[in-house]
Amino acid sequence: MKKHTRICIVCPAGCHLEILENDDGSFTVSGNTCPRGKAYALNEMRDPRRVVTAVVPVNSAKTACLPVRTDAPLPVALIDRLLKKLYSMRLEVPVKAGMVLIRDFEGTSVNVVLTRGAEE
Ligand code: SF4
Repeated sequence: MKKHTRICIVCPAGCHLEILENDDGSFTVSGNTCPRGKAYALNEMRDPRRVVTAVVPVNSAKTACLPVRTDAPLPVALIDRLLKKLYSMRLEVPVKAGMVLIRDFEGTSVNVVLTRGAEE
């Protein structure tokens, strides 16, 4: 049996979760004070995902970088590959907030969207 710990990030209470990985592959969750904490813990064990935020360089006279984010949580295992791709990009102005920079990253249906635009 293996023990994992997480702090639940679903609400500001931040419950300390203990997750026991049983020999049969199932999980036993404790420390959660509501069902959302259990769901969060199981997702963390089976398919951990994160919304990714970053900045991308832009050829602009007014700013060096623009912020981007994924429009849905991305599997944690793909975050490094996404960041490498983003850091290799260079945007040309003008660009608008909401513009999709990367569509369906690695077949995940997750897009990367610009959250601020630049005119010049
Ligand atoms: S377990 Fe429930 S109450 Fe605790 S942090 Fe998670 S969502 Fe909030």
